[in-house]
Amino acid sequence: MNATPTTSLPRVEEDDDLPVSARIRSRLTAAKQRYHANDNIAAFVMDGEVDALRNEVEAKMAEVLESLVIDTEGDHNTQETARRVARMFLTEVFKGRYQPMPAVTEFPNIEQLNELLIVGPITVRSACSHHLCPILGKVWIGIMPNEHSNLIGLSKYARICDWVMSRPQIQEEAVVQLANILQDKVKPDGLAIVIEADHFCMHWRGVKDDDSRMTNSVMRGSFLKDPDLRREFLSLLSKKND
Ligand SMILES: [Zn+2]
Repeated sequence: MNATPTTSLPRVEEDDDLPVSARIRSRLTAAKQRYHANDNIAAFVMDGEVDALRNEVEAKMAEVLESLVIDTEGDHNTQETARRVARMFLTEVFKGRYQPMPAVTEFPNIEQLNELLIVGPITVRSACSHHLCPILGKVWIGIMPNEHSNLIGLSKYARICDWVMSRPQIQEEAVVQLANILQDKVKPDGLAIVIEADHFCMHWRGVKDDDSRMTNSVMRGSFLKDPDLRREFLSLLSKKND
């Protein structure tokens, strides 16, 4: 689902001759909205524009292959590559930039649960903003609810995580983005997130370091104040990791 034109979008004179990316960019700049690689811009993308972006990226990707001196007409392996890569970027691996957040239903904490809840491991599939190389890993989420917290279905954690990760990312920023969303939706007493991921730009290029796992964590609220709770979370997590 894409955002349809609404009154919340700033009125900008739009030139239909401009590429669709330029039209979307002019809306973003008019609204003074950041559009870094790991930002979601769905509110500025109108119906049908993801398809138009895909066509635009396909044409530019064909030029990249041309500049790499690859004979995309003669080489049957790369004839469709520009189209495949454009589709993969817009509708698969970077879809978290162009699609709105998955719908999440929150339930009041009627049972007044106040026990540590751990969700994970959830599979992380992303790409680094620096090289657009894959990042593959796992994330664990710890929630310490209170009577005012909202509860969300277990599968929603995975869907929100996938939405945040399906963008060119920086692992340290991804973990904070995920924490901010969960803090807002669940409103827990404490929130802990650990991401452990493998960065393929380290294997494939550069130092070719085979030990390229990176771990990041965010601890908030009671996880920050209570070392016992933090220890409990981390010990359960290491057991689950075995
Ligand atoms: Zn990289």
